[in-house]
Amino acid sequence: MTSIAHFDVIVLGGGQAGLTAAITAAENGATVCILEIAPRALRGGNTRHTRNLRPMHESGAFPMEGAYGFDEYLDDLLRVTDGDTDHALAELTIRESEHSIAWLQDHGVAFQPPLSGTLHLGRTNAFFLGGGKALVNSLYRVAANLGVHTIYEATDIALNISGDRFIDLTYQQANNTHCLSGHSSGCRRGWL
Ligand SMILES: Cc1cc2nc3c(=O)[nH]c(=O)nc-3n(C[C@H](O)[C@H](O)[C@H](O)COP(=O)(O)OP(=O)(O)OC[C@H]3O[C@@H](n4cnc5c(N)ncnc54)[C@H](O)[C@@H]3O)c2cc1C
Repeated sequence: MTSIAHFDVIVLGGGQAGLTAAITAAENGATVCILEIAPRALRGGNTRHTRNLRPMHESGAFPMEGAYGFDEYLDDLLRVTDGDTDHALAELTIRESEHSIAWLQDHGVAFQPPLSGTLHLGRTNAFFLGGGKALVNSLYRVAANLGVHTIYEATDIALNISGDRFIDLTYQQANNTHCLSGHSSGCRRGWL
């Protein structure tokens, strides 16, 4: 048995990068599908294992303490990478990280109060309440409420690209082949 479906945006992989993209696209009016290789219980990839994020900030607003500005953040990044860093991408990432906590809080993610004691990272790291699994579950919940369609246990994704244009893709699920496209002209090779 096969199926054909059309979406404005198809996201491959439902970790934090994919979920953020899917949510943002759906909030901007797109119909969105996430194709995830894992079963539902194991969704979220490495994001499930994360504990914290490192945002640039100047205000010290909850859950951060003090300030962690652009120059210090960039110095830290250059130190841990021995300078082997794409500067344009680093600057974009650091500057945009300033908005990450508010965006996540607006999308149901809770943070712990700053940790004290020997592991005193409250100035540089924001810890997710419930860890990465809670983060993943919150973002999947928001995505579902926005109408994002998630397909689990999707394997063998094969993209059909013509020139610089995505035509459609196929994937396997439970020994069946399915086709997804971004427009009604896709999924036509031998399907209809
Ligand atoms: C043990 C551990 C702890 C970490 N702790 C932190 C931390 O505390 N703070 C921090 O900032 N970073 C941490 N990291 C790094 C962080 O996890 C990653 O940078 C982040 O999760 C990457 O997000 P992502 O969405 O790109 O990838 P992922 O979270 O890995 O998501 C990828 C998704 O794609 C799916 N997928 C993979 N292949 C396919 C395929 N072929 N078809 C369909 N779907 C597919 C996966 O199942 C998964 O759901 C940690 C990493 C590890 C391994």
